[in-house]
Amino acid sequence: MAFVLKEPEYLMLLYNFAIVNFLLFCYINVIINELIICMIIDSHIHLSTYDNNAGSLQEVLELFLREMQKNNVSAAIIIPDNIENSESIADLEKATELIEGKKNLFLLGSPQIIQRDSSELEKYQKLLVEDKIKGLKFFPGHDPYYPTDDRCLPYYELCQKLDVPVLFHTGENSRDSDCAKWNDPKYIVEVAKKYPVLKVIITHYYWPKVEYCYEITKNIPNIYFELAGLADSEVVEKSGGIEIIRKILKKTIADRPDKVLLGTDWPMCKIEDHIALVKSLKLGERDENKVLSENSIKIYKLSIII
Ligand SMILES: [Zn+2]
Repeated sequence: MAFVLKEPEYLMLLYNFAIVNFLLFCYINVIINELIICMIIDSHIHLSTYDNNAGSLQEVLELFLREMQKNNVSAAIIIPDNIENSESIADLEKATELIEGKKNLFLLGSPQIIQRDSSELEKYQKLLVEDKIKGLKFFPGHDPYYPTDDRCLPYYELCQKLDVPVLFHTGENSRDSDCAKWNDPKYIVEVAKKYPVLKVIITHYYWPKVEYCYEITKNIPNIYFELAGLADSEVVEKSGGIEIIRKILKKTIADRPDKVLLGTDWPMCKIEDHIALVKSLKLGERDENKVLSENSIKIYKLSIII
């Protein structure tokens, strides 16, 4: 005799099945949201042996992967240096080779303005269109040119057109104060005004003149800030102390909560100190998550594999 469900029993079974499915769906969503909420993304690291941390660039990468795990960092943006073919810091070619097959590691491009002026435009256009790099970094101050230099402009136009960010190194270098004249944010403001849709990211907050940098940029909506170096003891001390840094960051995040992102400058600076700096600001969960990961995902359009 065949087992036949009566209609009310059948409907009840269907109903229970739907409820179980719905609960499962909610549970999975909660887990995914939880993972996103807890996520930390470091948007500024280098693969270098500058810290005498490793014997080769391959070892540096392995060390960084361990650092990521230790600090719960889920993804990172590696900034290739503008020095090419060095044994001690990875340029774009070397960084691309090193991270091949590794998930959640992304790259920027670093055009050589002094050596090659605008002639690398096609190369970077291809890399950006193919999504092999997420934006372009400029090094005024490492190299002697201003952000407003004519040779940079075609790159800014390209980035504006493709809706990818440009990142500017700013502030002093260790043991070199004069170099900061090249990356004064007054020039970056000029760039941001000339390209009003371009996402213009300032890193290092033009240390030690962080208050000046805040004031001169505060009314420019397409300026963003990335925090690399701001928890470093030399940077903190020369900028007037940790309370000044905290005050400026709190004001900046209050003004533009969607435009500030975590970066660390590892291996020269410590990842854990930068995460602790963000947490010490007591931003509240929503803004803290934005700074620690969400803003980077949106600004650099990162596809993170959880
Ligand atoms: Zn850096």
